Formats: sequence, structure tokens, C-alpha cells
Amino acid sequence: VIQVESLSKTFRRDGHDVTVLDDVSLSVAAGRIAGVIGPSGAGKSTLARTINLLECPTSGTVTVAGQELTRLRERDLQAARRRIGTIFQSASLLSSRTVAGNVALPLELAGIGRAERRARVAELVERVGLTHHAGAYPAQLSGGQRQRVGIARALALRPDVLLSDEATSGLDTATTRTILALLRELRDDLGLTILLITHEMDVVRDVCDEVTLLRGGRVVESGALADLVADPRSALGRGLIPERP
Ligand code: ATP
Ligand code: MG
Repeated sequence: VIQVESLSKTFRRDGHDVTVLDDVSLSVAAGRIAGVIGPSGAGKSTLARTINLLECPTSGTVTVAGQELTRLRERDLQAARRRIGTIFQSASLLSSRTVAGNVALPLELAGIGRAERRARVAELVERVGLTHHAGAYPAQLSGGQRQRVGIARALALRPDVLLSDEATSGLDTATTRTILALLRELRDDLGLTILLITHEMDVVRDVCDEVTLLRGGRVVESGALADLVADPRSALGRGLIPERP
């Protein structure tokens, strides 16, 4: 469902070019949860922003659900972006809107009528386990609950793909687990394909089927999670997997 091919991104900074993504390729099949892990500055967030074309790649292609996003014009891109739901570290909710109001926002922007909107919001809020908090404001919620609202909002337009950039980074271990369990459930129930970007190996181990290791903008290793855990090939991989006694 997601195919990234030879993606490169160069920024111009202080008069010279800085390559942040260097020939990155990865693909994620439908219904899989794939992780991208790497240290700070590896280019993970840039990769996420390039996949939903918030950032224009210097070269390479991004294809989502059979549509090559990198060749679309701005107008078509708007529609294509609806296929990708995104969640970030801070859920960035509107503090003036309730849970239901935040989840309704993308539906309003897409021009979906009121009756359908209400039904869809109720369904989404239930799916993330917040039915009893639908009328609450973000300030009244815990970090984990806020992230659930972010997930419901990301799913509002029924995307094929969920892109998560450090969505559990600010959360404690127990809350992280429940969010990851929710993502797994969404994959199982909705057939969602998930690309999970993180710097935490525990997150990858908990939920990912496959993993790509990124360092300095380059893929240093990729494959099934079990293979990485059993036999890491790169220095970065060995650093992430604790040695067995
Ligand atoms: P972290 O784990 O800290 O979130 P990351 O892997 O997400 O790191 P990125 O945010 O993608 O890393 O940044 C990678 C590199 O790209 C950094 O050196 C950063 O300074 C640079 N960079 C990112 N965005 C821009 C930009 N708009 N202009 C110039 N340089 C940028
Ligand atoms: Mg980042």
C-alpha cells in the first residue's frame, strides 16, 4: 500500500546543501504495521512529512494505494492526502473544541453533511474508547486520551494508511501500551496499514511486523522484526537489540 522509492531530500542551509534523506526506499503491504526507527536527526520526521507530501522530495517517488503522490498537482494532492491519516507526538487538538468537535473537524472541512458527520463522530469516538468523554475539552483529558482523540480525528476520512510520528513519545509505558494495542486493533478491524515512526525499540517490538532502521538519512537495515531481533546486521541494529547473556 505504501511504496517509497529512492526518496531523497536536500535542504539548503547557510549556503550549502544538507541531505536529510538519501535514497530511502521502503514498502509496506496492506494491513501491516511497519516501524521506522532511528536516532534523533536520522530524518524520520522528514520522511513522514515527505510521505504525505507536506514536504516535496528532491527526488524519488511516493506511492500510496496505487497512486503516485509525487506526480500529482496540488489540487489532486489534497484529495489524495485524505488517504493518509497522520498522528503526531502532540495530538495538537483545538482547545476550544470538545472531543467530538475535534473529531468532526476534518469532516466539516471535507463538506460532509451534518447527519452523516454526527454518526461518523459517534462511531469514531466509540472506536477509540472515548464515548463517555465526547463532550470533554482537551484540557480535561490525560495525554493518552488526547492521543486517542488525535487517532479518531486521523481516521475521520477513512484513510487507507495511518502515519504515526512519535505518537507515544510523551506517554508513560502503560499508556503507550494501550495506544499501541488500539493501533493493533484498528489494523485488525479496519485493515489499516500503519507506518510507525519512533526512536523507541520497545514500541517497535510491541507492535511492528517489520522495521526499517534509519541513520543519517539512509536505510541501514530493513526486514521482518523477528529477523532483526534474532540477528541484527548493522551497528545501529546491534545497538538497539540488547545482547543476550
Ligand atoms: P527526532 O528523533 O529528533 O525527531 P528525526 O529523525 O525526526 O529526529 P528530522 O526532524 O527529520 O529528524 O530532521 C533530520 C535533519 O533534517 C535534522 O538535521 C534537521 O535539522 C534537518 N531538517 C529538518 N527539517 C528541515 C528544514 N525544513 N530545513 C532545514 N533542515 C531541516
Ligand atoms: Mg522527528
